[in-house]
Amino acid sequence: MRAIRKAMAGTESVQERLDDFVEAITEAMQVAVASIYLRRPSRELELSATQGLKKSAVHKTLMAPGEGLVGHVAQTARPLNLAEAPSHPLFSYRPETGEDKYHSFLGVPILRGGRTLGVLVVQSEDQRNFNEEEVEDLLTVAMVLAEILIDDERVGGKKGALKGITLAPTKPETFDGKSFADGLAEGVAHLHVPPVPPSDMLSENVATEQIRLEEGVTKLRASVDAMVSGEAAGLSRASKEIYETYRMFAYDRRWVQRLREAVQSGLTSEAAVERVRNEHRARLMKSPDPYMRARLHDLEDLANRLLRALSGENLGPGKKDIPQGAIIFARDLGPAELLDYDRDKLAGIVLEEGSHSSHTSIICRAIGVPLIGRAEGILDRIEIGDKVLLDAEQNQIHLRPVESKTAGFQLRMNIRGEVAKAYEAVKNRPAITKDNRHVSLQLNAGLLVDLPQLELAGADGIGLFRTEFQFMVSEFMPRLKDQTDLYLKALQAAGKRPVTFRTLDLGGDKILPYMDPVPEENPAIGWRAIRIGLDRPALLRYQCRALLAAAAGRHLRVMFPMVTTVDELIEARSLFDTEVKRASSLGKDLPHKIEVGVMLETPSLAWSVRAVCDHADFVSVGANDLMQFFFAADRDNIRVSDRYDPLHPASLSILRFIVDGCKQAGVPVSICGEIAGRPIEAVTLVALGFEALSMPVTGIGPVKAALLALDAEKLKELITPLITIDSRLPSVRDHVREFCMAEGIPV
Ligand code: PEP
Ligand code: MG
Repeated sequence: MRAIRKAMAGTESVQERLDDFVEAITEAMQVAVASIYLRRPSRELELSATQGLKKSAVHKTLMAPGEGLVGHVAQTARPLNLAEAPSHPLFSYRPETGEDKYHSFLGVPILRGGRTLGVLVVQSEDQRNFNEEEVEDLLTVAMVLAEILIDDERVGGKKGALKGITLAPTKPETFDGKSFADGLAEGVAHLHVPPVPPSDMLSENVATEQIRLEEGVTKLRASVDAMVSGEAAGLSRASKEIYETYRMFAYDRRWVQRLREAVQSGLTSEAAVERVRNEHRARLMKSPDPYMRARLHDLEDLANRLLRALSGENLGPGKKDIPQGAIIFARDLGPAELLDYDRDKLAGIVLEEGSHSSHTSIICRAIGVPLIGRAEGILDRIEIGDKVLLDAEQNQIHLRPVESKTAGFQLRMNIRGEVAKAYEAVKNRPAITKDNRHVSLQLNAGLLVDLPQLELAGADGIGLFRTEFQFMVSEFMPRLKDQTDLYLKALQAAGKRPVTFRTLDLGGDKILPYMDPVPEENPAIGWRAIRIGLDRPALLRYQCRALLAAAAGRHLRVMFPMVTTVDELIEARSLFDTEVKRASSLGKDLPHKIEVGVMLETPSLAWSVRAVCDHADFVSVGANDLMQFFFAADRDNIRVSDRYDPLHPASLSILRFIVDGCKQAGVPVSICGEIAGRPIEAVTLVALGFEALSMPVTGIGPVKAALLALDAEKLKELITPLITIDSRLPSVRDHVREFCMAEGIPV
């Protein structure tokens, strides 16, 4: 370790450092040979330094992926310890190295993240069996080596150059992903979970470090125990199912044993966590079993918690510092973690996972931060500080782009800026079509961060206030006062403009950390939203109470999600009425006007539209769910979510049926799914008869610009004959697009 420390502090070239390294290893381990093989971009392993083999073979001997014992270690990412290497079936003899006299072989992978950078090998003449401690030591050396090499490269310059080999990714690379929040961003990479810097990898004193690790593990276990017993939640019992798995890992003797061994070999606890994580990643990532890969995520989360425990940090959330223009890279990011970052410095987000309707995505759309998800494997190709172009228009992430790419990208960013200015110019104009249809453009919101957008975008109100967001981003169940405060702020921000509050839409994928999850085969069609509200009315009544209190003396609009039958609407309404009666019997101030509506987002309710209108003051079509149920296509499953076009004649026909039904009954109807915020869809919806659209903030400008140029009657004439039950068209999109082009409508 002393020799390693020296090499770390050294100012020689990388090659000299590697030479120092192998020399130090042969002395420390009393072996004849120590060699470093590094992976070339072509994935071959190149002998890059050796003590004991012929120096003339350095940079000449190459092993193909999987070839020989060295290739095998790289491929399996596991140590290989053999007393009699030449008799191993995979042994591949290389005469130029002069290794024929060596019998024993110990090879360990040089891992970083889930990547194998190379292999570190020691050999000796006798038929020696390396003991466990020696294997550990070599793994430790390999890990430190990986960090030093990468760090050298990062600081750049000649010092970092190793001929023909680049360990940290340096070349431009483009990853495909899926845009979950539109926009363009240029910035620098920041890892949500950063690696341990090399200077903090080796401990000063093994005994004190062991105590630190034990303390960290004890703290971690206590926090997981608290989660399981529900203490941390303060109110309800914790989500046992999920946390039990965590607890299993936290108490897993092998996991902790691996950490202890790593610390014993001289690493700091942080570096030990990283090393064990790297080992798991390298192995589990190769597993074809999705269950095993999912376990990797649990282990990683646990490793992150342990790191936080070690840093002395409270295991709750905290504000995270990032550089200006940071693009955050993470496997996945919860809404609370997202809000921990300084919005002013945050330029964009890239996730290996994520989904379009996850709350992180919805919040990103609300605050105008572009987000690309499903960028598989990108975490292994990115280093902190790398330059990044995030193109959420074209679903691509460019890492370390060349100048010309950046120039073209900047041009597009400028054009986007110009277009935004054009929207700004029409901000205060009402959305009136050329044939004089007045369309109300409203905002989908749910958090405090959304509220300033009302003014900024020039929206006519909040057409959908998703009250569950407050529940999802907090650590604890929001109290009556917290709920009332938020609703009041929304009403104040809106002023005279209407705000339509949707009661809690929980369940399905919207699970609260402090509520017991109910495992379900098909959560989207399971026990969720109003179904929970009616079966366990306390929470819903509590919420109605908060809404009534917030809207005292004001106009209150409330609607219920996921209603499937008219009976459910009647029941929910009567629950609400009970709260109104309670408030008035207690002498509380009531809203001066109350309207109770319903979200129409199940096909069954569409076919009861007239009965619905008898019991609802207004109807709001939830197109996200309506389309998911109509086409039987999970909105969160990328394999199917874009498979059917909402502009299919069949879906347009159900939408038209709903609008016509409401209009005939004289009940106001609006639509609030994501489609309302896309210009081609929006003009079509207006042609069908919708006069109120509620959408993410980014949709308001483009939709208004399109509507101002639209002759809705003319478009209606075009599409009406296409919406028939004998139509075989997959979509009317092309027809609408051509129409818009011909009419000069910007879509
Ligand atoms: C919808 O389903 O269309 C909707 C607006 O609600 P959410 O996306 O919150 O389910
Ligand atoms: Mg919905």
